[in-house]
Amino acid sequence: MADLDTFREETRRWLVEHAPPSMRTPLRNPDDLCWGGRKTRYPADVQRWLDVMAERGWTAPTWPREYGGGGLSRAEAKVLAGEMAKLRLRPPLTGFGLTMIGPLLLQEGSEDLKREHLPPIVRGQIRWCQGYSEPGAGSDLASLQTKAVRDGDDFILNGQKVWTSYADKADWMFILVRTDFEASKHGGITFLLMDMETPGVSVRPIKLISGSSPFCETFLSDVHVPVRNVVGRINGGWPLAKALLGHERTMIADVFKERDDSQRLIAVARRHVGEVDGRVADPVVRDRVAQVEMDQACLDLTLARARDGAKAGHRPGPESSIFKYYGTELNQRRRSLMVDILGPGGIGWEGPGFEEAELRATRDWLRSRGNTIEGGTSEIQLNIIAKRVLGLPD
Ligand SMILES: Cc1cc2nc3c(=O)[nH]c(=O)nc-3n(C[C@H](O)[C@H](O)[C@H](O)COP(=O)(O)OP(=O)(O)OC[C@H]3O[C@@H](n4cnc5c(N)ncnc54)[C@H](O)[C@@H]3O)c2cc1C
Repeated sequence: MADLDTFREETRRWLVEHAPPSMRTPLRNPDDLCWGGRKTRYPADVQRWLDVMAERGWTAPTWPREYGGGGLSRAEAKVLAGEMAKLRLRPPLTGFGLTMIGPLLLQEGSEDLKREHLPPIVRGQIRWCQGYSEPGAGSDLASLQTKAVRDGDDFILNGQKVWTSYADKADWMFILVRTDFEASKHGGITFLLMDMETPGVSVRPIKLISGSSPFCETFLSDVHVPVRNVVGRINGGWPLAKALLGHERTMIADVFKERDDSQRLIAVARRHVGEVDGRVADPVVRDRVAQVEMDQACLDLTLARARDGAKAGHRPGPESSIFKYYGTELNQRRRSLMVDILGPGGIGWEGPGFEEAELRATRDWLRSRGNTIEGGTSEIQLNIIAKRVLGLPD
């Protein structure tokens, strides 16, 4: 305990000394987070915050030191997170490297792949994207058709991926390809790491209803990928693909913690609906807000328990579907209630007639529609929960 108290004090002192003051303001938008990578330039204070934290390995606090991580124990990582929260500090880095491919490589990667790929993730030098979905393979992912044919020390890839989030900004992709065309559909899949700069890779952004373009179509035409970039074994990619989805689903649910005080439902409801005796005036709105906040508190506590389990070495299994399902459905309820409370202000798109928070509410509401699709739809999560968590018959 004394050690932990000393660690807490030193951590707090270090954070206060090294964090740029601008990193202590709430995030207005998740896109303001630093995603790292070779293709994006960040403001000087964001880059400095990344650099000082990465230097200590605190962008990936529990990863082993030999791969650039902080080597912190579970208890120390909790202290660090707590001190950052108290100082209202932003995470220095986010992205699919830290949340998806990094954890998978730690579990399943060869020593060479770990040494090559984990340190640049910790330092935010390489940004990753996920090449799973194809035009004919979404929920039924194992039907994927992107071909990889062996040619000496390389595979030659041909095919198309779709809905590839941030493919236009990413440096590397973790990709599922078909390497055995005779095997069962789950049996012929290989998990590969591919440099996006490889000749034959082209990317076309897709524009969304929310106005943004966070994902792309990715086309592969005679792309050479070295065989040494296989994670696990050739034709053994399916269990790894599922393990990574476990990390992804927990991460997606984790994102839906409230992140901005000015956006808090209660504050917005008080302002727009009015107050009586310190309570939101309209009993129906009050009831809906209370329900969302109670459900959120339950989710946050359950996620905190799962995070503790993960730090103790428990791998996310099919129960991550519960988080994914509940977190994304709850987020949709929250966003849609926000728009209801804002009334006409909640359906603005642009222009001087709307406050910035109102415009953000509209866009957040539209973006939340995709949350129940990405990482596997709600229907698919319910199927997994029924079969693999509850053990119900097919
Ligand atoms: C915002 C966003 C970001 C994404 N980012 C990525 C990414 O970075 N990389 C990537 O590879 N993919 C990404 N995706 C793709 C995503 O994983 C797929 O959209 C998703 O798996 C669903 O596949 P689909 O779109 O082909 O729909 P389909 O599989 O065609 O499903 C259509 C409908 O049928 C339902 N359905 C299908 N099968 C069943 C079943 N067995 N039982 C009950 N209902 C069923 C589905 O629930 C859905 O409502 C992203 C998607 C979104 C929305």
